[in-house]
Amino acid sequence: MATRVFVCGVAAAASLAVAGVALPAQSAPAPFNRTASGTVFLPNPVQDLGIETLTDQKDADYAALAPAYHRVTLTDLDGSGTLTGAYVRVKSSTGKPAVSVGGSFPAFHRDTDQFEQVMGYHWVTTAQAYLQHLGFGSTLRPVNQRQIEVRINQFGGDNSFFRPDKANITLGKGGVDDAEDAEVIVHEYGHSVQDGQVGGFGTSLESGAIGEAFGDYLAVVVTSWAAGAPTDPPEACVADWDSVSYTRLVPHCLRRLDGVKHYPEDVIGEVHADGEIWSRALWDIRTAVGDTKASTLIVEAQFAFAPDTSFRAAALDTVAAARRLYGASAANAVTKAFQARGIL
Ligand SMILES: [Zn+2]
Repeated sequence: MATRVFVCGVAAAASLAVAGVALPAQSAPAPFNRTASGTVFLPNPVQDLGIETLTDQKDADYAALAPAYHRVTLTDLDGSGTLTGAYVRVKSSTGKPAVSVGGSFPAFHRDTDQFEQVMGYHWVTTAQAYLQHLGFGSTLRPVNQRQIEVRINQFGGDNSFFRPDKANITLGKGGVDDAEDAEVIVHEYGHSVQDGQVGGFGTSLESGAIGEAFGDYLAVVVTSWAAGAPTDPPEACVADWDSVSYTRLVPHCLRRLDGVKHYPEDVIGEVHADGEIWSRALWDIRTAVGDTKASTLIVEAQFAFAPDTSFRAAALDTVAAARRLYGASAANAVTKAFQARGIL
């Protein structure tokens, strides 16, 4: 059987940028103020339980996974009883919609389509909550405060993607279902965030690599914020659970934020691989100035990016955002992080 490899892309971004497709308005209508309880992974069983030997077992709900299910409060819902809220509406291409009764979704587990639906809702909403906790939408301008669509496609390949023309995310299956790993969901939301900031972002190789890198960074920082940073496996490991299906090395990681790739000699012309150059710089910025300042300046900088920005231009924008928000010492730390990668 062929090895399945998780691939994420931004569908047709270049042609859409040319077509000039209008984006939905970035506003959060008022009525989305209801909550309901639901069952999720926080953020995935490998990271939560620290067990690298867990395997997919064909989507089975087996005993070792039992402690990885957690009851949480889903927020920003519209009160319809469906997974429809201020920042996301969930559609399943392959299963019945999850419905809540009396403010409570049933305790779906991973062997049902509805579990992935609840995961998609919860983690997109959590990622937006993280951005708002940084000040985006209050002290800073809003970022991606629009309702996107998350589609669960259980019959698709192991392949998730963001479609800028429809502002939606599709989460596929193949090995561990993509929506069973919060870091895959938030990675995809990272593409949505950048598209919300700069329509059609990612039309060149380097801007595409920045897109993949930011998705990986956001995945790690949002899940650490919401579920606590893991000590084992390493925090810098992305998609610890999704990747058990297609990696042999332990810890299982789709990619890492703490690699040693250097520009330009490690560029291979593939956006995910080259993104590890950029994501290591983001990781070093976070280490230097802390999570809140790092994520704030990284996201704020992205408003200035051209859709086809280069590593160098985007790095200079990020240094400028650091200086504007936090002064010279933060700007120096950011400069050093990009110098260490060969970008500045
Ligand atoms: Zn991606």
